[in-house]
This record gives sequence, structure tokens and C-alpha cells, in this order.
Amino acid sequence: MDYQALSPVTGHSVVISVVDGRISTIVPSACDSDDGLWVAPGFVDLQVNGFAGVDYNSPETSIDKIGCSIDAQRTTGVTRLYPTIITGSNTNIRKALTNLARAKHELSNGTSIAGLHLEGPWISPHDGPRGAHPIEHVRAASIAEFEDFQGSAEGQIRLVTIAPEVEGALALIEYLSDQGVVVSLGHTGANAEEIHAAVDAGATMSTHLGNASYSMTRHNANHIIEQMACDQLYAGFIVDGIHLPPSFVKVAIRAKTPEKSILVTDAVAPAGCNPGSYRLGHLEVQLSDDGSVRLVESGRLAGSALRMDYALNNLMRFSGLSLARSLATATVNPARAIGLEGRQGFLIPGELADLVLFQYNSETLEIKIIESVV
Ligand SMILES: [Zn+2]
Repeated sequence: MDYQALSPVTGHSVVISVVDGRISTIVPSACDSDDGLWVAPGFVDLQVNGFAGVDYNSPETSIDKIGCSIDAQRTTGVTRLYPTIITGSNTNIRKALTNLARAKHELSNGTSIAGLHLEGPWISPHDGPRGAHPIEHVRAASIAEFEDFQGSAEGQIRLVTIAPEVEGALALIEYLSDQGVVVSLGHTGANAEEIHAAVDAGATMSTHLGNASYSMTRHNANHIIEQMACDQLYAGFIVDGIHLPPSFVKVAIRAKTPEKSILVTDAVAPAGCNPGSYRLGHLEVQLSDDGSVRLVESGRLAGSALRMDYALNNLMRFSGLSLARSLATATVNPARAIGLEGRQGFLIPGELADLVLFQYNSETLEIKIIESVV
């Protein structure tokens, strides 16, 4: 199968040949494509809690519904995702992980699940850093409990968000790193020493940097700036225009560099649905017309209704990054941060043929065709 489209790297037309689900060759095309479509690798979302009315955190969520949510995300350009399970009871976390692990090997589109992201329960108990995670289930880090979770997940947990200041965190970070599980710092109020100790123990990422923080911190010395300045850490950002002001996005991307920056949606079940009231577990949330998802009780943000294609459009607008560099934050950067096989390059022979074809008018991109080896 051949695809002809414009390359974001060169701006010129190329022909991509796909053989056995991999990119075989990419050669310049003698003529421009008729439809003016552009091509990129499929998007990789390392943090998604649910989509299209489907809640990955609910122990009752069926395998079929998980499949529907994957199809819905494909229309936004996402071909590989890390369903994300947040802080909860041991029983509920294990059930949710089991559902997703089953979905991965039972569904026809299950290979889109590239791994699982466990965000919590080993996070800061303090208001602010804890975000919308339920306080009653926040606890000290435990290697034994992780092993319990990893058993339920059939070994699919590939990314864990931890606050390095909680009891037992450093030992767990070392343990996870030794096992090849990526450790991301998040829902944390750690000081500089704690952040650097976590990096020395093997942490390589920051989770939705700039969110889940104290409302008041020292303006020029705090855990956000400390992580921004740490070159070893990739950083995830929720660029929905609600979680982070445009100026923060611009400054943070420059500080981290575009190569270490990763777009995540942090989408929750109401994403892709109409505004209204929804339930996330036992919590009531409101999806508003402005696209925010907030706990009804406190007004606190509880994930997003963001789509990855919209996140890319926001990023280009907020940061002024080129199309190619913006696309990298949703493709090769997340793939490199977690070592995703077959997705380490931007449209090069040998890579998995996850392809997104889209229209682009110098301000916005619009997804038209998705191809991926599912
Ligand atoms: Zn979070």
C-alpha cells in the first residue's frame, strides 16, 4: 500500500510504501498529491483516563466499551495510548488494570494499548499537589503493592507516576527503573533535594508539569521550576488552554526544549461527549461549554476533555513551534520517553506504519485518514 502526502519535515510531497505493517520506503514524489494532505506518525497519548463516555478507572467498564473508546480516539489521530489508572482502593485499581490488560489481548484494536500508566496511589496527600485524587486512598509507596498491581495488569504497567517525597518512594523508583518501568514525578510538592534524589534513583519524566500544585509557592524556587530545569526529565503537558495559560506553555516548552516535551490529553470519560453532568467513579463532574471538567463538589479540575489533535493546534498557537516540531511532541517524544518499539523515528523506514493523514492550513490541522497496524 502506498500513501502520497506532504512531509512536515521538508514540506514536499513524498510516497510512503507500507509492507507488512511497517514503513518500507519513503521517497520524494515527482508530483504533489491532489488532495493536499499531510502525513505524520500516529499520535501517542501517555495519559488518558477515559474517552467517549468510557471510564477506564471504573471496575465495571466492559472490554467492548474500552474497544469503542479506542476507536473514538483513533478519529483524533491517536493510534497508541497508555490508559491511565489513578489513585483508588487496591481492589478497584486491580480490577481496572485487569480489564485493560484483557482488552489489550482480546480486542481487535487492543494493540493500540501500548502499555498502562499507573498514576498514584503513591502521591502527595496535600491539597493542591493531590489534585482530584481521593485522599482516603493516598498511601505510602510499596514494592509489594506494585507487584500486586503488575500481576493484575499481566505485566502491562509501563509507566508509574509517583511523588518522590512519600514514604518508600525512592526504593520503589529504583525497583521500577531496574525493571524497565518508566517513573514519572507528579502530584508532588517535592523540594529540590527530593526531586534530584528521584532522578538519581531513575525517574525520567514529569507528569502534567504545572498542574496538581500548591496554589501558593515560592515564585522562583519551587518543584515546577526545579523539574523544568532538570535536563534528565521529559515533561508531559496538558495543552487544552484551561490547565495551563498559553504563556506558561510557551515558557515551559522553551525550558524543557521541544525534544523533551510531550503532549498528553489527561482526558476523562466525558471527553468527546456533550457538556453536562457525568460520574467518574463515585465523583460527580461537570463538563462545561468551555471544555473544562470539574468536580461538582469543589470546582477543582478533574482531568480534561481534550483531544490530541486539538492539543496540537493549541500548542502551535501558544508556542509558535513549527508543524514538524509540534508533531514530535505527540509522536516521537512520547515514544522515546517510554521506549515504544517501532515508533522511535519520525516517518522512517522500518517503523510501524501508524500513519495520520491530515489537512493543514498553517494554523490548524484536521485529521482526515488514520492508518495503523492494529
Ligand atoms: Zn494527574
